[in-house]
Order: sequence, then structure tokens, then C-alpha cells
Amino acid sequence: MRAGLFGGTFNPIHKGHLMVAERVLHRFSLDRLYIVPCRVPPHKFPAFLAPAAERVRMIQLALPADTRYCLSDLEIRREGRSYTIDTVDHFKMWITPGAVLFLMMGMDAFLEIHTWKSHRRLLEAVQPVVVSRRVDGRMHAGDDVSLMDGYIRSELSGDYHYVEEKFCWQRDAENKIHLCPTQPIDVSSSQIRQRIRDGKEIVDLVPPTVNAYIGQKGLYR
Ligand code: ATP
Repeated sequence: MRAGLFGGTFNPIHKGHLMVAERVLHRFSLDRLYIVPCRVPPHKFPAFLAPAAERVRMIQLALPADTRYCLSDLEIRREGRSYTIDTVDHFKMWITPGAVLFLMMGMDAFLEIHTWKSHRRLLEAVQPVVVSRRVDGRMHAGDDVSLMDGYIRSELSGDYHYVEEKFCWQRDAENKIHLCPTQPIDVSSSQIRQRIRDGKEIVDLVPPTVNAYIGQKGLYR
């Protein structure tokens, strides 16, 4: 079994998240893709954090009708801040024992992974799959490989070698970090929240069901 974990605040879920999910699901032939919204983000302090139940509802409305997509409320049920390593341990023990676990994230998240709790053990437990994103407002689509290569060597470990035809850094058969090259979609949850506060449309950034839900509930105003 090949399972993907996709964690985030999803405040709200948007087309960028859905593009990441779809792309990784296909490229890595996943049997299951778990979307794992957090209750309180460990690295961020968003000014307008919608209640967990509302974020979960928007994910339910946004996910395609494909049984490979699963919503996990594991981190929502956990008190306080959630750490990815704890979630991964739980999945390995109780939900997907024996599975190859892929941890999906945007480039911005990956470039901070050395600050995550128990990141060395995390890199042994999962295979990160990194998706291109605008970083600090600049496009890195063309040089994602050199960006990641420099980061991996300076912050993670010099033991990885790059396998060009697979877009993959490898330490051994099990320890891999993947780049999933994509045309980045320039959308973020903070941009959506800002647009709503400015009274602007968000119809091009979220699925129609989520747009309608945000309007009905008056979220992020
Ligand atoms: P915010 O703007 O509030 O910081 P966000 O848009 O980054 O939120 P999160 O829910 O925090 O959304 O992101 C969850 C994961 O999805 C992270 O790994 C992030 O890098 C990734 N991600 C979000 N948007 C995109 C995008 N447009 N392209 C690629 N990856 C993305």
C-alpha cells in the first residue's frame, strides 16, 4: 500500500491544495491520500483562523468523489499543537501499518523542515514529496532542483545523492526526498482571506462549493 499524508491548516482549502493532491496522487500511484487538517498550526499564527469544524466542512465540500481521498480528523481531535512526527507515528502504528508513506508539502514548507520536531526521524519514517510553489513572491519553478539540493546538503544531510531522471534525492533504497515538478499555482489561504476582507471575489481561487460555503457562513470577514 502506498499512502500520502497531506497536512496543513486549510484555512480555507483552495485550488493550490487540490492541485498538489491530484498531482501527487497520480504521479506516485497512491492507494490512499489522507488530508490531515491541523487544529492549531505549529509554525504559523494566522490572524483569522476559522474554527476547525468549518475548515473540515470546506475540505469535505472540496474533495473529489474519489474513494482514494480520505479526510483524517486525527489532528483536529488532538489537544494543543500538532507535530507531524506524532501524526506519522500514529499512521504507521494504527492506520497504514506496513505502507510506504509519502509526506506531501509545498516548497515553502519543505524549506523549513529542519526546524520541525524530530525532523531526522521524520525523514526516515516518510518520503517527502515536494511540490513547486512561489517562495517569497519569487518563482522558483526553473531552479527547484538547485534550491532543494542546496537546502538538503546544508540543512539536512550530505549523504543524499541526486537521481536526475527521478527528481529524487536518495540516501538508500528507503530514504528518499522527491520533487514533484509542477507549474505552480499562485494561490494561498492568506491571499484568499485578504481578498475576502477587501470585499473581492475569490471564485477563481477555491472550488464553487467552498466559495458558496464561505459566503453563506460569512467566514473571514
Ligand atoms: P497560508 O497562506 O494561511 O499560510 P497556505 O495556502 O500555505 O496557507 P496551508 O494549509 O498552510 O496553506 O498549506 C498546507 C500545505 O499545502 C503546505 O505544505 C503548503 O506548502 C502547500 N500549499 C499550499 N498552497 C500551495 C500552492 N499554491 N502550491 C503548492 N503547494 C501549496
